[in-house]
Amino acid sequence: MSFNEFKISYSRINAYLFCPNKYKLIYVNNFYIPANADISFGQTIHKTLEKYHSLGGKTFEALFESYDACWQNDGFISPQQSFEYYERGKKLLENYFASFKTSRAKILYTEKSFDANIGKYKFVGIIDRIDETPEGFREITDYKTHVNIWEQERVDKDLQLSIYAYACRNVFGFTPDLISAYFLSANKKIYTKRNARQIEEAVNLCLETAEKITAEEFDPDVSKCAFCDFKHKCKYNVKGTEELT
Ligand code: SF4
Repeated sequence: MSFNEFKISYSRINAYLFCPNKYKLIYVNNFYIPANADISFGQTIHKTLEKYHSLGGKTFEALFESYDACWQNDGFISPQQSFEYYERGKKLLENYFASFKTSRAKILYTEKSFDANIGKYKFVGIIDRIDETPEGFREITDYKTHVNIWEQERVDKDLQLSIYAYACRNVFGFTPDLISAYFLSANKKIYTKRNARQIEEAVNLCLETAEKITAEEFDPDVSKCAFCDFKHKCKYNVKGTEELT
């Protein structure tokens, strides 16, 4: 396997930490995770907000137009389910707009990509939004579209947010004053911070994981099979395998 062009991303690290064999199935064997309602809905909402803000949208009508233009109708099990998600998205955007129109913060970037150095590796990613408050504070926000809201502790330990804080400091040249996970379905932001030690720990974890990937250490973690997208396709899942790799 050639790793000349190997770039780390949060998705890759997350797949490997879930189960090294899951990483292999996706990134070496080119298996793909079939579309489902939650994946499509999440992509629709991200694209809607990116389109709306990048066009400098100010009205709810414009937001709703972006929603219709970005709606992704893949992976729903029935027209009824698609309709239910569509209605859920409308409600989510109504609540989002109500908060947005009273916000005094200026949006600096939406879907801002970065290409950071971590040791000998490149780390690529996209930050959903970077704002600046009238007081000059910078905030990075990660949109979440699932229904369940995380506890504060989970947000405080979230690896993705730690990597974003690292990218801000090392690529964009500023330390974020505020970091938030924005649970759009409940229109609730949970704020967190990252200090230098936490960022260093996240970077080290990414480096260690990248080393294992490049060394092709892909031992399966069968304790995760019940929750895995490939549980019906993986030969290591001894319970209920339909198709072997
Ligand atoms: S089914 Fe189990 S062993 Fe196979 S990739 Fe998923 S978690 Fe890993």
